[in-house]
Amino acid sequence: MSSSAEKVLLPESERVETLVANLSGIKARVEAASKQYASGSTPRLVAVSKLKPASDILALYESVSQRHFGENYVQELVEKAGKLPADVQWHFIGSLQTNKCATLAAISNLYAVETVDAVKKAKKLNDARAETMPVLNVFIQVNTSGEESKSGMAPGEEVVETAKYIVESCPRLKLKGLMTIGSIARSNASGEEENADFKTLVEQKKKVEEQVAGAGELELSMGMSEDFAEAIRQGSTNVRIGSVIFGARPPRN
Ligand SMILES: *Cc1c(COP(=O)(O)O)cnc(C)c1O
Repeated sequence: MSSSAEKVLLPESERVETLVANLSGIKARVEAASKQYASGSTPRLVAVSKLKPASDILALYESVSQRHFGENYVQELVEKAGKLPADVQWHFIGSLQTNKCATLAAISNLYAVETVDAVKKAKKLNDARAETMPVLNVFIQVNTSGEESKSGMAPGEEVVETAKYIVESCPRLKLKGLMTIGSIARSNASGEEENADFKTLVEQKKKVEEQVAGAGELELSMGMSEDFAEAIRQGSTNVRIGSVIFGARPPRN
């Protein structure tokens, strides 16, 4: 890979305007939901840029100082991180493979891996994270909906044990919180009823905070384009929003 980064150019001005308007709109909605529901501060907004060009990211970086971006594919993240500014705060939110952990950990401005779902993956990340780099934030992904198509640990003892392992045995990692995706059916229903997946994540967080000494107060990464308001109502501190900002994604190939 050539690290002498090719220069990323801004998209045409019409695209910049669209992206800025979309991000401003969603920011206002996130803030409104936080004011309406939450006592604390506004959640971090992670702009999910998977399958979208680096030029889109640069537009939001430069025009509205967006810094947190989320990516699902390791190779795509490595390439984008190599050519975009070094103070972008990357979130890896894709399905985590053991054999990709070292590649991820080598990205110095990787802010968080949100999808840790096994002790051995935490260990790989910890072992690979250089002393010279900032400590890497991690979220444990919980499969709150129990769908086979979703990654993440089943709620329960394994989540607590994994949290304990990260806190006690991974000095190069910081347990930042828990993350879930939840079922689409439940996110579509939100607005009418309490989202049971988010509720489960809140319960898991309480358990970990109670049972793992030194875990401190944990974050909740939950809420996407269609269900962020309900996620904020239930205490989300990190919403991951893609299509509302960037438009529909092209198919992956
Ligand atoms: C793609 C993705 C998102 C963003 O989804 P949108 O519905 O486009 O907002 C959020 N979280 C994860 C884990 C994703 O894979």
